[in-house]
Amino acid sequence: MQKKISFQLLPDEAASDHAIKEWIANLCAVPLDDVKGFRLQKKSIDARSRQVKVNLTLTAFINEPVQEFQPAEIHFPLLKKNASRVLIIGSGPAGMFAALELLQQGIKPIILERGKDVRERRRDLARLNKEGIINEDSNYCFGEGGAGTYSDGKLYTRSTKRGDINRVLELFVHFGADNNILFESHPHIGTNKLPGIISAMRGQIIAAGGEIYFEKKFTGFAKNNNSIIAALTQDGDKFNAEAFILATGHSARDIFYLLQKENILIESKPFALGVRAEHPQSLIDSIQYHCNRSIGRPGSLPAASYQLVEQVSDKGVFSFCMCPGGIIATASTSNNELVVNGWSPSKRNNPFANSGIVVQIELKDAMTMLRDLKWNNQQIIPDENDPLLMMHLQRIVEQKAFAAGGGSFVAPAQRMVDFSEGKISSSLPECSYIPGIHSSGLNAVLPDFVARRLQRGFQEFGKKMKGYYSNEAIVVATESRTSSPVRIPRDAGTLLHPQFKNLYPCGEGAGYAGGIVSAAMDGQKVARAIKEKIAAKL
Ligand SMILES: Cc1cc2nc3c(=O)[nH]c(=O)nc-3n(C[C@H](O)[C@H](O)[C@H](O)COP(=O)(O)OP(=O)(O)OC[C@H]3O[C@@H](n4cnc5c(N)ncnc54)[C@H](O)[C@@H]3O)c2cc1C
Repeated sequence: MQKKISFQLLPDEAASDHAIKEWIANLCAVPLDDVKGFRLQKKSIDARSRQVKVNLTLTAFINEPVQEFQPAEIHFPLLKKNASRVLIIGSGPAGMFAALELLQQGIKPIILERGKDVRERRRDLARLNKEGIINEDSNYCFGEGGAGTYSDGKLYTRSTKRGDINRVLELFVHFGADNNILFESHPHIGTNKLPGIISAMRGQIIAAGGEIYFEKKFTGFAKNNNSIIAALTQDGDKFNAEAFILATGHSARDIFYLLQKENILIESKPFALGVRAEHPQSLIDSIQYHCNRSIGRPGSLPAASYQLVEQVSDKGVFSFCMCPGGIIATASTSNNELVVNGWSPSKRNNPFANSGIVVQIELKDAMTMLRDLKWNNQQIIPDENDPLLMMHLQRIVEQKAFAAGGGSFVAPAQRMVDFSEGKISSSLPECSYIPGIHSSGLNAVLPDFVARRLQRGFQEFGKKMKGYYSNEAIVVATESRTSSPVRIPRDAGTLLHPQFKNLYPCGEGAGYAGGIVSAAMDGQKVARAIKEKIAAKL
């Protein structure tokens, strides 16, 4: 007999197969020996009360052999010689999952990627971290797998289309991710495992007949009226195809400039701006798991995370991309701009917990901020019709942060309470950010509109999580690439750009995703739209 049951256990019990079997025997009123095993379906931690519990949903096998987890069967047929060709610009999650979906639909994907493959890219990250030297085409945002490769690999999304999410997770498992991502409530892969998974995807794309080119920077389109004929590259290549997917991510500012220059419609879009906050992980554990900090969390519990949101002066101040047991990383793509983000390894075993803490910014807010702002002693006169308005604001704040850090990607930082009280920190605590930190007043870096809300936000967060608002914590500037400041419009049905019959804006850079899973799902969606269009022509 198989029985699906849900119950709550203490963390130590949930870590023991024997204890779980005992619970199954009790709940199903059968002898322990009759319980042959179980297969987990869902697992989450409930830390709302003092006694932390683990929620489990599982299939129990009573008096019948356990049916072990079987990965979904996923096939990639070899392409036919005359298969239609689709060009994908960008090998982030949107581009890679579009390519995999196209292959399954019998269409040949050709990917152009400005950055290097995962292995070469790692060397550029080391130079950035250790020597403060950035390769503007190969960094935490650019290169094989896109911004998702050297990330925390959190795989949850607020999107409710569960069917599609499972499809993405099953592909991750197919290419080497642990199958626990299928049942954990907050699955994550970890930066040490993602590169291997991405190169396995590349191997599959090539084996099935697709093509992928690294260090191939796209620089423009050859067009004929409302049709794209070819994609042009920096080194003079011309790639023809029937359809073109533009999935270049939110950091490719050269692409936004290019589209504007070529009169291809783009729009400005709200985004969120703020800082990255870092606490000792032991402090977050003690708050979230109600444990004695000097003893630490029980070994059966993972590094604790948090999610915070507060309304301050009519704006949402919220935590974003929290990385338990993680590291703050340089997510800059240019030499004079400072952007931070976070990642963590699969074990989440670093001694720090970091999270973006940001304020949502609308177009009218940006107009006010830019009017108030002086940069390089020049008053800025913003134009609300400029589709790159939000991007200009984002860039100026990043440049100010770079200058305040003193160069070489050293980041301006302040203790949390000092920041909220407007005091320069006389000393800084240890921080995971490898290029180093420099004590600096962050309200001189951030627009007043953002700084004031963050200052209040931290105080309010401290009321929700006692101990969070602390000078043991540090805030580092600037968290500015939370989502794209630009949208590339597309038709809701055909997913085509309104000016072209074969151009598909896709993923986070086009404004249709925010995170790995939603970017991957968007890639799949665009690939299916292309398949429909090609099928309709036949
Ligand atoms: C450090 C870090 C940690 C993160 N952690 C998480 C996380 O834990 N969970 C999560 O869901 N999200 C996370 N994110 C965000 C996530 O990575 C992105 O949302 C996601 O990668 C967006 O996918 P995309 O394919 O739309 O774009 P991108 O991943 O940005 O990919 C775009 C690709 O296009 C390429 N490209 C750009 N311009 C050109 C050009 N001219 N020619 C050719 N190629 C070009 C780029 O090199 C890049 O590879 C993190 C991001 C960073 C930087």
